[in-house]
Amino acid sequence: MVVIVGTGVAGLSAAVSLKRNGYNVRLVTKKITGGSTYIAKGGAAASLAEDDSPELHAQDTLKVGDGMCDVRAVDYVTKEAPSAIHELEKWGFQFDPDLRLEGGHSRRRVAHRTDETGREFYEFLMKEVNKEKIPILEDRLKALLVKDNEVKGIITEGSTIEDDKVVLATGGYAYLFKFSSTQSTNVGDGMAVAFDAGALLGDMEFVQFHPTVTSIEGEVFLLTETLRGEGAVLVNDKGERFAFNYDKRGELAPRDVLSRAIYDQYNKGNKVFMDLKGIKGLEDKFPVLISFLKRHNRTSSDLLQVFPGAHFVDGGVRVNVRGETTLKGLYAIGEVSDSGLHGANRLASNSLIEGLVFGMNLHRYIDEWEGFYPEDGTVVSLTEWKGRKASIDELREVNWNNVGIVRNKEKLEKAISYYKGVDTSSSCEESKASLISYLTAYSALMRDESRGNHFREDFPFHKKEWEGKRIYFRIAKN
Ligand SMILES: Cc1cc2nc3c(=O)[nH]c(=O)nc-3n(C[C@H](O)[C@H](O)[C@H](O)COP(=O)(O)OP(=O)(O)OC[C@H]3O[C@@H](n4cnc5c(N)ncnc54)[C@H](O)[C@@H]3O)c2cc1C
Repeated sequence: MVVIVGTGVAGLSAAVSLKRNGYNVRLVTKKITGGSTYIAKGGAAASLAEDDSPELHAQDTLKVGDGMCDVRAVDYVTKEAPSAIHELEKWGFQFDPDLRLEGGHSRRRVAHRTDETGREFYEFLMKEVNKEKIPILEDRLKALLVKDNEVKGIITEGSTIEDDKVVLATGGYAYLFKFSSTQSTNVGDGMAVAFDAGALLGDMEFVQFHPTVTSIEGEVFLLTETLRGEGAVLVNDKGERFAFNYDKRGELAPRDVLSRAIYDQYNKGNKVFMDLKGIKGLEDKFPVLISFLKRHNRTSSDLLQVFPGAHFVDGGVRVNVRGETTLKGLYAIGEVSDSGLHGANRLASNSLIEGLVFGMNLHRYIDEWEGFYPEDGTVVSLTEWKGRKASIDELREVNWNNVGIVRNKEKLEKAISYYKGVDTSSSCEESKASLISYLTAYSALMRDESRGNHFREDFPFHKKEWEGKRIYFRIAKN
């Protein structure tokens, strides 16, 4: 039996594919409609067009990843991406006929269905899960069952489940920032559970901020990259189209560049808006945005105020391309994992596809544990400590103010001293989230350079010695 924790694109595709390849599977999730997949918009990147190739997709991924991608993961995902899309089509999923262009991509390669591709994936895969009669338990993972240094099952709030193989697909922790585009389930507790059991976490300093999140009357809405690919532009309240002042790609510059540009505009006292008027056929292409606008009595001629929000995390539980962690018997797939695909910054639409590729291919590897230990970084061993508990809201505030878009030594040290008093020995969600926040600030402080989406205003440049060098954390066991 295989137990999979998480019902996003990674967990659901793994469950269906494993079942169809003869394995007994069960799913456990904190909240069935939780996670980022359920609200993901744009689509999944794959070299499907005639003028495209896995090599070009890999080149774009490496460029955005800014010297930190693991080339094995990049080759693997870009080569496997078209097959994963075709496999999903064989299962009956229908993509729209066109491929979209997004920031950082040199070709049109974003496969999508409407402008809510994540939700469409989720609903389709959930139907397949039900068809296959895969049981789903709604419960929170709080620890792993480890016997003789091998993972043998999971401990949830309500039960202990002993299983041969455990697959973590619990998503990222972008919700741990005050402004975020994701759901409240994504606080990194799955990642912390793996850490507590002895798995290596890496690349925690690389948090991606999406440049264009909007909020009207309290409803947070992500203005997808594809809007800019299709002709939307950014203007400030002085009417200036400022993006070209920061990067020659203008609105199609990578997310980190645009996020900092918008952040800078706000620091200069300007407000920033998206102008949708340049998009041809907006109503047909983006019906979900249109209904959002209608709900709030707005039209597509109105300027929409935008701000950057934490959106995705590049780091997590370090895995090889088979999804194996450094802890025997534990697999991690999707955003919870650190495969090295994204490096220091994720290329748009590379995460739904990562989840699909790792999920759909897991059946190839699950019977044979190869084992792996990365040798591309520094390992920091931490001992447990006890202290007070912080609420998720407090953590979000501290992270946004000190570990956010623009970081420096002073702010990071402030955050670290705040977390130091936090109780990480407990299995509650807040303690786990505090630990993840601490590790993020710790590695952001160690990396005294700027790279990808990690920006240090006190070191606003690359340092050669940091290129390709990861920061790993593990628990020091007595
Ligand atoms: C608004 C938005 C739009 C996006 N658009 C795109 C896009 O167009 N293209 C793209 O490639 N990427 C996009 N992304 C990123 C992408 O959606 C995610 O990286 C991806 O969906 C992650 O999938 P996942 O299966 O790894 O995790 P998730 O979809 O986040 O699912 C995690 C699951 O784990 C469960 N869980 C969490 N913790 C626990 C626990 N302790 N115990 C039990 N269960 C737990 C949750 O309930 C959930 O079911 C977007 C993200 C956001 C927020």
